[in-house]
Amino acid sequence: MKTVLVIAAHPDDEVLGCGGTMARHVQEGDVVYSVILAEGITSRDKKRNRDIHAEEFDILYNAAKNANDILGVQHIKLFDFPDNRMDSLDRLDIVKVVEELINDIKPNVIYTHHIGDVNIDHRRIHEAVVTAVRPIPGNHYVDEVLYFETASSTEWMTPESAPAFKPNWYINIEQTLELKLKSLEAYEYEMREWPHARSIKALEYLAKWRGANIGVEAAEAFMLGRKIIK
Ligand SMILES: [Zn+2]
Repeated sequence: MKTVLVIAAHPDDEVLGCGGTMARHVQEGDVVYSVILAEGITSRDKKRNRDIHAEEFDILYNAAKNANDILGVQHIKLFDFPDNRMDSLDRLDIVKVVEELINDIKPNVIYTHHIGDVNIDHRRIHEAVVTAVRPIPGNHYVDEVLYFETASSTEWMTPESAPAFKPNWYINIEQTLELKLKSLEAYEYEMREWPHARSIKALEYLAKWRGANIGVEAAEAFMLGRKIIK
């Protein structure tokens, strides 16, 4: 039995990136923690003002809860870092939160964002995770770090602007794709109409394309950050 920690920026990223894999871990008896660091709302305003959005926060919190429920994920934790403004924070403050999570949860596997996404929060979180999992003596919980692709951010990066997402790790999600799509429906507030990259249909096509990459019906693709075999 493994302990799995998913660290995402915004509510929906965790499902976009690895929802099918999360459901698969749950079905295999692993313990899955879903952590969302930024609040996912105030970036629409010129200036961040959390108070005027109380109702939207409730809606989004409930959506996150439902979406993770559908995947069978019991443990969900939402933080309050400023949406799309995580580059305004000291990097150390993000690292400290991630380090604390790792110390509390003691995960064997971490899934998080790829460094080459357009979204700045995704990049800052990637960097914080890489720092937090550095393999110093005594920091021995995390054996496997994987980076997922986030539709409407990873593929929106232009070549040469950042490292490209080149998957070398695939997880078959034939049995859990339906759950992933249902879970995304719980995030209707965040989803867009086809042919937007963040539409249900696009996510279904992506899963099927990633499946076709490896000769199965559906998959999620990752890049391996580090694997330690003890
Ligand atoms: Zn995001």
